[in-house]
Amino acid sequence: MFVYLINFRCPKCMELKLPREPAAFCSQDCFKASWSSHKSVHTKAKEEENRDGSSEGWLYCVRRGQGRTPKLPHFDWTGGLRPYPISPYRVVPPHIDRPDWAVDGIPKIEPSSDFQHVVEIKNPEQIERMRETCRIAREVLDAAARIIRPGVTTDEIDRVVHEATVAAGGYPSPLNYHFFPKSCCTSINEVICHGIPDARKLKHGDIVNVDVTVYYKGVHGDLNETYFVGNVDEASRQLVQCTYECLEKAISIVKPGVRFREIGEVINRHATMSGLSVVKSYCGHGIGELFHCAPNIPHYGSILSKSSFFYLVFSKESKPMFEALKMQKDAELPLQAGNKAVGVMKAGQIFTIEPMINAGVWRDRMWPDGWTAVTADGKRSAQFEHTLLLLLSIIAVDLDKWPCILIASGYHIWEFLRTAVIYHSSISHYLIMTTSCIIILASHIYFFADYIVMQVTETGVEVLTTRLPSSPKVYPWLNE
Ligand SMILES: [Zn+2]
Ligand SMILES: [Zn+2]
Repeated sequence: MFVYLINFRCPKCMELKLPREPAAFCSQDCFKASWSSHKSVHTKAKEEENRDGSSEGWLYCVRRGQGRTPKLPHFDWTGGLRPYPISPYRVVPPHIDRPDWAVDGIPKIEPSSDFQHVVEIKNPEQIERMRETCRIAREVLDAAARIIRPGVTTDEIDRVVHEATVAAGGYPSPLNYHFFPKSCCTSINEVICHGIPDARKLKHGDIVNVDVTVYYKGVHGDLNETYFVGNVDEASRQLVQCTYECLEKAISIVKPGVRFREIGEVINRHATMSGLSVVKSYCGHGIGELFHCAPNIPHYGSILSKSSFFYLVFSKESKPMFEALKMQKDAELPLQAGNKAVGVMKAGQIFTIEPMINAGVWRDRMWPDGWTAVTADGKRSAQFEHTLLLLLSIIAVDLDKWPCILIASGYHIWEFLRTAVIYHSSISHYLIMTTSCIIILASHIYFFADYIVMQVTETGVEVLTTRLPSSPKVYPWLNE
């Protein structure tokens, strides 16, 4: 073991708040003797501080992105994280097509669109553009993931996201959206979402979420992932893995005919089971030519829903759920109001699922920058997001051979016919040929035509922002 005897500390080092070790001397004489070599520590620290953002143009963000200040704003910070100054605006080259908020920070088409109330059914041409854009967004996020390590600032992540997006011919959708000052969101530790990239360097043991949205060929593609910085403690690993699983489990139930409400039930059950809580203030959303539109996708459940009730009563593993309920009661927080999402999923719809899961309470607070949402108790929060396309449930057909054609489940027959003709123009002539008889059996509708062979089987969901073979292997649970 090594013991430091500290009799004298360099006053300049103390002023600069440098760590003790280089500032400690055995006596004042010893300090004087080593001054000529020691003073380089100060210059180095000052240089570093400049790189950290105290240099020109780097300021703290206030007023929801519309203001800047040189001083750290006062706030009753909920955890250990603080905002750092942010860098000046990053420019998007003039040849790149941009959404209407790029100029003045105000979206104009989006808030007044009918698609805030009606869930748009995308046509094949829109779907093709969504596929392209989501693929770019995935590649941009992967580029950001590759530079994440201790010592890298979130501003550096923002630069990579910005440059990769622009290089692909896209516009980084968050940039100037309602005055958001940066090209992506970076949310560290207790930040739930919408963290602003700044001069803070990532530290060993941090978790950081990077949320990327790309605007390309007139549509937006949106995804995010939470990454480990160096060695992360076990509780944080479990939080991140559980959040990943919440999204996977939610996606596994998505298909035409399922109620939007059920997404929250699935996520809530899995998170609560692990003793974690689900954020209620931020939801998944429809996406396409608009960044945010209908449907609204809550990630929380109605806690006394039938499924969780049976779970509470009959499951052997129900203890964490009881405890979570008790925790909420003890904290004198009202029980979660039920998830009131209405509507049923239909083929051709595109929306995101993006659960935010907290280690402690589900409640959130807002930093003085007007964007950064943090947990009310300062405990950590993780998130994952995908953009999803709903596909037709079809078993089709080659008219030359078989007598039975199409199976649609769970939604109205005319809707099915309409979307089938739109999405699978290749099979539309099958439908034109004949529907000699229709049998309706419970929730299944069978069509009979003259000839067919079973051929295309497309059901459920297509994850437009899915991981690629080239995506960095950052999750141990995916490596089996
Ligand atoms: Zn989103
Ligand atoms: Zn997002």
